[in-house]
Amino acid sequence: MPVDRRDFLKIAGLAGAAGLGGARALEALAEDGKGEWQPFDRAKKTVTNGRWAMVVLVRKCMEADEHCHQCMTACHEAHNVPHIDDPDDEVKWIWRQGFHGTFPEQEPEIVPGDLHHFEFPVLCNHCENPPCVRVCPTRTTWKREDGVVMMDMHRCIGCRYCIAACPYGSRSFNWSDPRKHLNGEPHSTFPTRSRGVVEKCNFCAERLARGEWPVCVETCPNDALLFGDLRNPEDPIYEVLHSSYAVRRKPSLGTQPQVYYVI
Ligand code: SF4
Repeated sequence: MPVDRRDFLKIAGLAGAAGLGGARALEALAEDGKGEWQPFDRAKKTVTNGRWAMVVLVRKCMEADEHCHQCMTACHEAHNVPHIDDPDDEVKWIWRQGFHGTFPEQEPEIVPGDLHHFEFPVLCNHCENPPCVRVCPTRTTWKREDGVVMMDMHRCIGCRYCIAACPYGSRSFNWSDPRKHLNGEPHSTFPTRSRGVVEKCNFCAERLARGEWPVCVETCPNDALLFGDLRNPEDPIYEVLHSSYAVRRKPSLGTQPQVYYVI
């Protein structure tokens, strides 16, 4: 049976109240649209009624050197993300964040110390119910049928409503000309931006269109990041999410993030 937005909020609330994490909501999400789904076709470079999602295997990520930023470096280079040290002006698509900022609704006293002090990779969650999309007055940002929350930076008027609406801090504003803050020549495979526009992670939509996985996933030296279609029973992330306990960020908000953290 198809699940509409109201059902999602109900499911999220019930799952949260029952302490079930995202498991039940995941079931509903996977079943939504059943019968019309077709697996990702690399030749056609498309997914029919699928839903892209990312899985962070936290323990694998922890096995890496604590200074590992390979996924972040690769992402920012591939997307011409400006490098600005000033935290008030910085632009970021994927970054590391401490336990409290990442999972403020989890009880730190029942979390093992190593997790409590770990800095988790965080990015746009490509929410099923994205508040950023609802507030955008120019429809610069929208959610595709496959779940990717997109941005057309040429249409952005810089109002920053989306930044205010995103509860995860996943969007950045270019206060200055981002082209002046690139390390070397820009990558020709992704457009640069201009001053006064918002930007964020796009789940590497340009790579998905070529039949490739996101660059962070392909770069991770520990295979700690997985990407796939969570409606595909043969997809590794389907198997992982149905056999492991995964949490999502701020579940009580009902945004239904599509980035899952397997603890
Ligand atoms: Fe929008 Fe923020 Fe959700 Fe990304 S994480 S879809 S920017 S609300």
